[in-house]
Amino acid sequence: MPMIRPIQKIIEPQFVIESAGVLLRRSIFPHVSNQYDPFLLFDHFAFNDPVEGPIRGFPMHPHRGIETVTYILKGSVNHRDSLGNAGLIGPGDIQWMTAGGGILHEEMPRRGHDGIIDGFQLWVNLPAAQKLIHPRYQGVVAADIPVANGPGWQVRVVAGTVDNVSGPVKEIAANPLYLEVAMESRAKFSLPIPEAHTALIYVFEGKAILGDQEVAAVKMAVMDGGDQIEVQTGDTPVRFMLMAGAPIGEPIVPYGPFVMNTRAEIQQALTDLRNGTFVQT
Ligand code: MN
Repeated sequence: MPMIRPIQKIIEPQFVIESAGVLLRRSIFPHVSNQYDPFLLFDHFAFNDPVEGPIRGFPMHPHRGIETVTYILKGSVNHRDSLGNAGLIGPGDIQWMTAGGGILHEEMPRRGHDGIIDGFQLWVNLPAAQKLIHPRYQGVVAADIPVANGPGWQVRVVAGTVDNVSGPVKEIAANPLYLEVAMESRAKFSLPIPEAHTALIYVFEGKAILGDQEVAAVKMAVMDGGDQIEVQTGDTPVRFMLMAGAPIGEPIVPYGPFVMNTRAEIQQALTDLRNGTFVQT
């Protein structure tokens, strides 16, 4: 018999203002306790009021020691980076950026035709041995993200495998699962996830039933031990992001856009930025 994972705790996303005045819902953020290892941060950016004024975005900034994953539901994000990449991440597209030893990039959200921007940014840790690897990115357009279907549910598989459908994002250190799941009312979705893996469910629309608890949008459920995720719906459909991955199990020292293993490595990042030796080309 599979052991269904119960909820360990529910996180209420906090509104925070980042960078040049971007309002976000933040569920988790890098902290030495590293309790969601290998996941470091999960931000939900949603600008649902077309008259709220200009969106300032995230002007050029550095990253080191992590991977940043941008997934867009509505609107788009215009980006460019120190590797020479530039382009628009549109609805249903994903950008999986491995900052490795150092990258500078700019991320500027843009409203869609309906005036709305909706999407997520996830940070995934890199193991110590890969924190200084050469940066790279994998951009995948919506049409190239495969879909797995079952009775009353549909899953866009960004990374990992569901029912023999494998996501296009590969060779990620933490070998994570990253899915967008949509369920109709009165449906059930189950997925085996190895016992030791961290598993997070971010409900952004509707209501999910996890065990005997109902989780209504917008909330993150941190799942406890077990070897299977089981989500059900009642009268209300649901949409959620599901992240799972093996903990890396190393100490972390976060500092702004850097997540390293020691304070000395953070100092080195700051020195490299000052000396102009930060960016890997
Ligand atoms: Mn960034």
